[in-house]
Amino acid sequence: MKVIVQKFGGTSLSTGPQRERAIDWVEKAQEDGYRPVVVVSAMGRHGDAYATDTLLSLVGDSAPSPEDRDLLMSCGEIVSAVVLAARIRSRGHPARALSGGDAGIMTDACFGGARIQSIDPEPLERLLANGIIPVVAGFQGMTEGRQVTTLGRGGSDTTAVALGAALHADVVDIFTDVDGVKTADPAVVPDARTLATLDYDEVFQMANSGARVIHPRAVEIARHFALPLRIRSAAAATEGTLVAMGAVGLDHWAHRDPERALTGITSLARLVQFRLRPLEGAGTDWMYRVFQDLGAAGVSVDLINIFPDLAYFCVLPDQETAVRRVLDALALEYECSDDRAKVSCVGTAIHGLPGVMGRFMQALSDAQVNVLQTADSLSTISFLVRRADVERAVKALHRQFHLAGESESGDAQT
Ligand code: ASP
Ligand code: MG
Repeated sequence: MKVIVQKFGGTSLSTGPQRERAIDWVEKAQEDGYRPVVVVSAMGRHGDAYATDTLLSLVGDSAPSPEDRDLLMSCGEIVSAVVLAARIRSRGHPARALSGGDAGIMTDACFGGARIQSIDPEPLERLLANGIIPVVAGFQGMTEGRQVTTLGRGGSDTTAVALGAALHADVVDIFTDVDGVKTADPAVVPDARTLATLDYDEVFQMANSGARVIHPRAVEIARHFALPLRIRSAAAATEGTLVAMGAVGLDHWAHRDPERALTGITSLARLVQFRLRPLEGAGTDWMYRVFQDLGAAGVSVDLINIFPDLAYFCVLPDQETAVRRVLDALALEYECSDDRAKVSCVGTAIHGLPGVMGRFMQALSDAQVNVLQTADSLSTISFLVRRADVERAVKALHRQFHLAGESESGDAQT
């Protein structure tokens, strides 16, 4: 049995015609010999009646318990699943809507950011064996104690990929409102190109550093199970971006030209930077105390640079207060700037290639962007810059590495 998981994002399900278009894709999969499993996000975005943010606004100033908050948020996807399953039935195909728990998705009890612990494939396998199309509410699961949980914002992608793994699907299609993963945000760089193929590492790095096309956790799971992913447009008949083992040819790493070694550029537009120094006579363990106390306060730090009498790091804006509380209690001086942003350059081919850093610095200095901090890993170099400089930095880097061009995306498909 060939199984495909087809996940539709909220902006691809907002209107009646969009929902019919989604069902065209389901029928197309059936014509191609697949048994489809459909996963849906809540319909629309903030302001639309059943979008996640709209539901959250219903309890606005009051303080629901984390359990109640998850129960409320889970409704958006459930409404979406019921509506789509009803339309699929009207078009002559047996279909059934399921909550995450109904679909066998069991999670831990971290409400608001639960992790999937196991999936019982039996409920979906039974429906598929009977020729019924399951339409599963994304972004949610159930604890052992049968409480509803949500998987963190953007978590419907994770539902789709985890179900794909549990059902040994051939491929997971993530249908969205752009036609794939791009070399940069097209709102900043209008001639950004759609990447036909990417390796798991690259798409993970891009998702983690600001590209909004897919949830990083979904990529992690797909990579673990070597599950092929396609990120594609629900509206257009293009192939999108394929992420799979071996999808990227060997020539991808064979680029020894530092001007062409980059795959894509992403940015995170809001970061808060802290710079700390110990007080005179603070001893040698000051740094250890800082990071231990930040950890105990549940703060996740990024872009960490440590020198003997100086340390830098960054956090997301919602953690600034928690960091200040920790630092105020320690024997140190600190400064904080909340106008920072991070630009990340991703490409597995940049590793070990002399000349790449020179190109980055040339592009940034020509664009008069000051680099305030850097961090690098095998496939990524990130630059901390002032928020006002982000767009200039991304444009300059995109140009420097010749990333623009005609879309590489494949031929029309339907
Ligand atoms: N509806 C949820 C959110 O807005 C989950 C998702 O769309 O993936 O975060
Ligand atoms: Mg999403």
